[in-house]
Amino acid sequence: MPVYEFYCGRCDKEYSAVMHVAEHDRQVAECPECHRKDKVEKRLSTFTPVTSHKSAGI
Ligand SMILES: [Zn+2]
Repeated sequence: MPVYEFYCGRCDKEYSAVMHVAEHDRQVAECPECHRKDKVEKRLSTFTPVTSHKSAGI
């Protein structure tokens, strides 16, 4: 299962949680600090698509 990044605006805390893709589609993981979801935002996961921006100018 993939690991997803979340951010809790209530605690100003970032955390990660392992959950199913379908689960992540529907909901967020609850914050480990306040155990709430109402201020939780999804963060983009770390496996971003590889883009070739090595050298801008030739
Ligand atoms: Zn929280």
